[in-house]
Amino acid sequence: MSWAQRAARNLLPLSREQSDLAVALREWRYEGGFHDLEAPNEDCELCDHPDIRYQFEIRNRFTDTRLQIGSECINRFGISATSDDGEDLDAAGTRKKVSRDRRALIEEARKKRLITALVALSQADPEFRILSFIDYLQDRGAFTPKQLVTLLWRFEKVRVPVDVRDFTLTIRRDREKVQLLEMADWQIGRLMPAMSPSQRQFLAEAKKLKE
Ligand SMILES: [Zn+2]
Repeated sequence: MSWAQRAARNLLPLSREQSDLAVALREWRYEGGFHDLEAPNEDCELCDHPDIRYQFEIRNRFTDTRLQIGSECINRFGISATSDDGEDLDAAGTRKKVSRDRRALIEEARKKRLITALVALSQADPEFRILSFIDYLQDRGAFTPKQLVTLLWRFEKVRVPVDVRDFTLTIRRDREKVQLLEMADWQIGRLMPAMSPSQRQFLAEAKKLKE
């Protein structure tokens, strides 16, 4: 069965239009409801695609039925999103809204993993002063080179697994740039996955000047 056939089988019984998928699809809107299941373990309720983690909710304007579907399906089936003031968006506007919402979900999940890791660390390591780090994270959304090196060392010491890419590094202030440049190569290497492309470029240029 093709994805269009599967979509027709799932959507038509819940729509006012009973036979033409393209017509039925026009009854549905993505109005901005979405959630993160935290693991890819649901099927798309429109096309049956497995392993959906981020569910986007579409609603039928006539029957008020809702389906939880994958974000790609909104674009693939040409379902319209509605803007914040309730207007229908065109295809480009819908794509923009869907990808913005998807980014927000991914960012939210990243922050959650970070907080979970910090809490696990504070439970395993009584010397770790979690509140100052969480305050800092909430304030700046990132850690300084010194903070991050310390954190990674502590995570390793108490064997709390973390993905360094979940962290964001900040070197906006001069003293933070100096911190980074004064670090040993192995320390810088550990911070690398948390660096943005422009931070890596800054580092490469600073190294060139030193040579
Ligand atoms: Zn789907």
